[in-house]
Amino acid sequence: MKPHKNVKIVATLGPASNDYDMIRALFEAGADVFRLNMSHGSHDEIRARHQIIRQIEADLDQPIAILADLQGPKLRCGVFSGDSEELIEGQAFRFDLDPADGDASRVCLPHTEIFAALHPGATLLVNDGKLRLRVEACGPDFADCTVINGGTISNRKGVNVPDVVLPLAALSEKDKADLEFVCELGVDWVALSFVQRAADVEEARHLVNGRAAVLSKIEKPAAVSAFHDILAVSDGIMVARGDLGVELPVQNVPAIQKRLVRSCRAAAKPVIVATQMLESMIESPVPTRAEVSDVATAIYEGADAVMLSAESAAGAYPVQAVTTMCNVALEIEADSTYREVIEASRGASSPGVAGGIVAAAREIAETADIKAICCFTHSGTTALLTARERPRVPIMAVTPFDRIARRLCLTWGVTCVVSEEVDRFKEAVVNAVRAALNGGFATKDDQIVIMAGVPFNVPGTTNILRVAPCDERQIYRSEPE
Ligand code: PGA
Ligand code: MN
Repeated sequence: MKPHKNVKIVATLGPASNDYDMIRALFEAGADVFRLNMSHGSHDEIRARHQIIRQIEADLDQPIAILADLQGPKLRCGVFSGDSEELIEGQAFRFDLDPADGDASRVCLPHTEIFAALHPGATLLVNDGKLRLRVEACGPDFADCTVINGGTISNRKGVNVPDVVLPLAALSEKDKADLEFVCELGVDWVALSFVQRAADVEEARHLVNGRAAVLSKIEKPAAVSAFHDILAVSDGIMVARGDLGVELPVQNVPAIQKRLVRSCRAAAKPVIVATQMLESMIESPVPTRAEVSDVATAIYEGADAVMLSAESAAGAYPVQAVTTMCNVALEIEADSTYREVIEASRGASSPGVAGGIVAAAREIAETADIKAICCFTHSGTTALLTARERPRVPIMAVTPFDRIARRLCLTWGVTCVVSEEVDRFKEAVVNAVRAALNGGFATKDDQIVIMAGVPFNVPGTTNILRVAPCDERQIYRSEPE
């Protein structure tokens, strides 16, 4: 059986993790969510991976979440007559709309929107920020720059414009086609790259139309500024540290990570900490001490999930990378300092009946001998609110819907069980107890906390908290109908 940890692991799939055996090995090592990166791979490849994951899910009878990550509006320059040029610090260089091949003095930047939004003094970054240019003068079809940090610029390199909110469509034509494809395929989460404002998320949400949950990647300074509004219209967040560390001074990233993780917990929405977590494991079977510490930090902060990118998609040691994350999680989560930090950062309970009930469940589990908290949930909300409490014992979410169970795979501490709809309380208790016993969370001499809503099968009615014995004979003797 998979070891129980609270933090979830997102593993990106790619050439190194393409087949059934490898993806299953990643799952069994501790991966909970698989990320399909739409920037790479054809629709046929994506479809094949999707099918393998659903096969593993059926073979192991456990829900698995699939997250499709859209490429987003990534800006790129044109091509050079010699394929590349060396730019030297202090020299002048022009970006324009002329489609002719570039040289040492200019290159095409085929995005009219950029020129409309630029201003003198703005910074242009090329090739993951390795080259830095300052805009001296600009017009509707050009920007004359001074090279601040030189280096090689080559065909179709990525261009970042950190300090300008670009009037770019949040979704390119490719993104829209990819979005429709993955929603039809049946993914659980759609991630949006380079979100700049809440309206970007709303546009995508409209197209997704309830077929998947929507996750916003925070990787632009504009998104950090508008975070409050973006969070309000998103189902989840990714702290996308790769691009964030290019668009902002890299030393700003840790504080932003802490703030975002905390806000997401307060909002009861899952948050992923992503990128370079075990970067050296792309080539090495063992991580650096600093990487282990980085994973540990995200876990201490209370992140819902930690992510592997190239480590699992293209590295030489995908399973070892997942195992490393899992081992770090098990060790940190058993540390008494971890509990202290998690409790100190809890904040006030959510208002309302459900908020009160989940807080009570957590308190009972803290003071009495309780082995798990089990909630019945239709929309997933009760499970999200329970996770927000970060209780000491495992959370089981019982739902009649595969898609809700899969979505919840991204949420801290939640194990999902798909079970037929129940309409009597005694039945619900028996189902919860069986799920706890089958999951290895409790034995028949233990007790669990159960949360449910009566009448059954009406969303948003959580109104019962029951401490139940796990011995079925006792349930039948004592439980009211
Ligand atoms: P990416 O997003 O891997 O799609 O670039 C994550 C990040 O930027 O950190
Ligand atoms: Mn990115």
